[in-house]
Amino acid sequence: MDFSLSNLSTNKTDGQQHVEVLVIGSGPAGLTAALYAARADLNPVVLAGMDLGGQVSLTYTVENYPGFPEGVGGAEMVELFQKQAERFGAKVEFDTATEVDLSKRPLRVKTYNGEYLAETVIITTGATPLHLNVPGEKEMTGRGVSYCATCDGWFFKDKDVVVVGGGDSALEEAIFLTRYAKSVTIVHRRDSLRAGVILQNRAMENPKITFVWNAVVTQILGGEAVHGVRLKDTVTGEEREHATDGVFIFIGHKPNTELFEGQLEIDELGYLIVDKLMHTRVAGVFAAGEAADPHFRQVITSAGMGAAAAMQAIHFIQEQASDEPQTPVLVKSES
Ligand SMILES: Cc1cc2nc3c(=O)[nH]c(=O)nc-3n(C[C@H](O)[C@H](O)[C@H](O)COP(=O)(O)OP(=O)(O)OC[C@H]3O[C@@H](n4cnc5c(N)ncnc54)[C@H](O)[C@@H]3O)c2cc1C
Repeated sequence: MDFSLSNLSTNKTDGQQHVEVLVIGSGPAGLTAALYAARADLNPVVLAGMDLGGQVSLTYTVENYPGFPEGVGGAEMVELFQKQAERFGAKVEFDTATEVDLSKRPLRVKTYNGEYLAETVIITTGATPLHLNVPGEKEMTGRGVSYCATCDGWFFKDKDVVVVGGGDSALEEAIFLTRYAKSVTIVHRRDSLRAGVILQNRAMENPKITFVWNAVVTQILGGEAVHGVRLKDTVTGEEREHATDGVFIFIGHKPNTELFEGQLEIDELGYLIVDKLMHTRVAGVFAAGEAADPHFRQVITSAGMGAAAAMQAIHFIQEQASDEPQTPVLVKSES
């Protein structure tokens, strides 16, 4: 079936490339969107950004994605996603979107290497968990340092773990971790929590949870695996080591959506607002995965949103081919 707009697929002129589907981001959402668009013969181009494969490529093993009963390495998994999309004609470019103009058709996306004129854009720029930026953190990410309890909690059965943070997500994740861990120590830089009272009570009543107040982690200790953290008292300045098998960092999450400020609806936390069909407020522009999802933040949910966004992009292109409006139509968001 060929319903492409005058078969343009990917035409290159004067450093500009005309594409039907431009996917911004190469994480699970982006590569899944690319797979669906490629299987509709739309030759999607994927801008990989700085992190080919996205966040999950950082993790050692993924055990909660169906189809891999023995688990799969994060990097290996997204490599498979990429191969599958490429098999049907998706093109992954090692390039980053630097500027967008979504106010007229075709939609314009500038990158370090050129400019794309796109009939549809699927935004899957993901989010970045905030880091402590202390020695040992980067080196041991996926080897004891984690930003996702749902993903990695299971690996800490009967182990001692530290949770860093004092907000709702830190406490929720700490409580979740008590299903597996022998003990959970919450390290918080102040002497009171930002989290809601009910959550605070639940955490304080949990016999596996203890708190270290007025303390920050200044170093993560270990090598192949984590064996401790160095803590600094924010009041006295005193430093000490605390033995632990894992460090879960929940000090916030930042969606990568600055590029779209002023052009798309963005909520107060920085997430793109989409309706349940992944539409943004600009017709032909869709968003999927963690850039538009403050809740689930998993590979499977991001991939699912990516598939849904691509299905809507395909539908949009079909409609355009039969009745082509020349200016972007604002779609009312339902969120
Ligand atoms: C350490 C760790 C372990 C995890 N483990 C698991 C697990 O076991 N199971 C699980 O289900 N989930 C896990 N997660 C969560 C999972 O990784 C995310 O939910 C998922 O990767 C989100 O996919 P995404 O495609 O929406 O965005 P991301 O994976 O964040 O990808 C965003 C993509 O956008 C690109 N990008 C950003 N800006 C631009 C730009 N301007 N131009 C072009 N490209 C751009 C980036 O380069 C990247 O490729 C883990 C997360 C972390 C951090």
